[in-house]
Amino acid sequence: METTAAFAGLTCTDCGETFDAEDTPGRCPDCDGILDPDYDYDALDVTRETLAGEAPGLWRYESLLPFPRSAAVTMDEGETPLVEAPSLAEELGVEAVYIKDEGRNPTGTFKDRGQALAVTAATLHGATDVALATAGNAGQAASAYAARAGLDSHVFVPSRASFVNKAMINVHGGDMTVVEGRLGDAGAAFEDALAEHDDWHPVQTFVTPYRHEGKKTMLYETVEQLDWEVPDHVVYPTGGGVGLVGMHKAARELRDLGLTDELPAMWAAQSEGCAPIVEAFDEGKEMHEAWEYPDTICGGIEVADPGASPLILDALRESGGGAVATSDEDILDSAVTVAQHEGVEMGVTCAAAASGAWDLAQDGAFDADDTVVLLNTGAGSKDADVVRSHLMSKGI
Ligand SMILES: *Cc1c(COP(=O)(O)O)cnc(C)c1O
Ligand SMILES: [Zn+2]
Repeated sequence: METTAAFAGLTCTDCGETFDAEDTPGRCPDCDGILDPDYDYDALDVTRETLAGEAPGLWRYESLLPFPRSAAVTMDEGETPLVEAPSLAEELGVEAVYIKDEGRNPTGTFKDRGQALAVTAATLHGATDVALATAGNAGQAASAYAARAGLDSHVFVPSRASFVNKAMINVHGGDMTVVEGRLGDAGAAFEDALAEHDDWHPVQTFVTPYRHEGKKTMLYETVEQLDWEVPDHVVYPTGGGVGLVGMHKAARELRDLGLTDELPAMWAAQSEGCAPIVEAFDEGKEMHEAWEYPDTICGGIEVADPGASPLILDALRESGGGAVATSDEDILDSAVTVAQHEGVEMGVTCAAAASGAWDLAQDGAFDADDTVVLLNTGAGSKDADVVRSHLMSKGI
């Protein structure tokens, strides 16, 4: 298996056992815990200068990733703009707000970063097929990267997945199963199918060890784009928490490598219609309880049972951040406000970050000289129908 020099293998976040990446495509063989890529950081010679010399894109960070650019299944994902949002800064009463615009990725969301690594891993494992259950965007990304790598993809989506996602999974030639119900129902159907197909390589959230690893690059990029200033706050629309856990890991790596001095406060933004992380954070718990009746317009974060909640909650607490839930009504309003005040098109799910930031500002979570980064995890145009309908509901 072609790996980078410092990649040392996989460590179980539950039992602490370590494994050879070659033998472990999914979760911990001993306890079914989440596996996390590990590196020999002492062997790494990464400085601000060596990074400055790297070619653009996600793979400029290859020394901090498990696989090299030469092995990558890639469509030049990453290198997304960090767009300044001066009107929002004024409204939130902070020094600066930036929107990390992940909508500019190949399939219109940050899911491309995770799938670039997960599908690369699948090819290195010699897989012929990849499979996952997904709310939609990850399935679109997986079917796209699988197509590029010449692999078959099997994608389980809930009936309420967006039209764009379902259509594009078809267009990429994915084998799609639409499951009546919610993400949990699609997940159950996926588990059943997986049990019958031992040749399917999982590219599912926190089953493959590599999706959160790909998402580390959002934080590396952000810090480089801010000329190595660490933002005070990062607000992230949180479902399974892949991006949040990845970015927090990246912030720790940069600090531990001596490239930065501090960690940004990580904030999980959710919808009041499905807020298991906010509930667990507020109650001081180490783990969530599954949300009984998930119901939000924000499909990407309608995750009732986020299995990585211990990692998410650790990241929030260690970084001095927290969790915030707002209503779907406020979230939709925020998508419209950002589009009208800044021109930036936010996806509906992503607008939970903007809406959450307004709430946090009102609660005094930010100081006047703070820098706040909002993750626009996906392109607003993918949700044009939903946001336009919201205006119609108001007679506009
Ligand atoms: C998947 C998704 C999320 C949530 O991602 P997690 O890392 O699993 O929390 C947020 N926004 C969009 C647009 C998504 O597709
Ligand atoms: Zn384990």
